[in-house]
Amino acid sequence: MVADKYIALTFDDGPDSTTGKLLAILEELRVCATFFLCGERVRSFSNEAKAIADAGHEIGNHSYNHVYMNELDEEAIYSNFERAEAVIIEVAGKKPPFIRVPYVSYSEAVVKVAMTMNMPVIGCDVIGYDWEEAVDETKIVENVLASAKDGGIILLHEPYEKTRAALPVIVNTLRLRGYAIMSVGELVNQKQTTLQAGVCYNAL
Ligand SMILES: [Zn+2]
Repeated sequence: MVADKYIALTFDDGPDSTTGKLLAILEELRVCATFFLCGERVRSFSNEAKAIADAGHEIGNHSYNHVYMNELDEEAIYSNFERAEAVIIEVAGKKPPFIRVPYVSYSEAVVKVAMTMNMPVIGCDVIGYDWEEAVDETKIVENVLASAKDGGIILLHEPYEKTRAALPVIVNTLRLRGYAIMSVGELVNQKQTTLQAGVCYNAL
């Protein structure tokens, strides 16, 4: 089937002890995704972070320690993202091309920092709600499929068994509906979009 719609797949909050399981599923599905990693976790799970990069996935900056950015001043926000960037470069060997703000806690200061760091801010608009306890595997599939759209950015999280279980159903169903599933960077290329520093993108 030829794809005529494009959607990005993103995983937040890793790496994790379960990263290898997720990578195996993505390999089987032949999907390249974007992983928004936290610097502190990249330190703790450096083999997993390296495995994400080695498998050809894209890595974004999801802060050092997943704090509410709207509670921090500009300097603290800057050093938090910078610290994460340094660890990601050290471990994964690549500078993350964009940031994602924990808890969607945007503020004017966050935007200023993103400008200073020359970083676009990647949001999401196809949300699995997999972090909610009441949301099971079936519901994750429903949530994603109900809001999937051309140019959309799917948000899932790394550590959950139910998310891994939902993934093949999500990917296979979207493909049947004419979607190609890719990383954020690939979606940007596909849509011939030029991302701008300090701008928050929920979809492309
Ligand atoms: Zn997060």
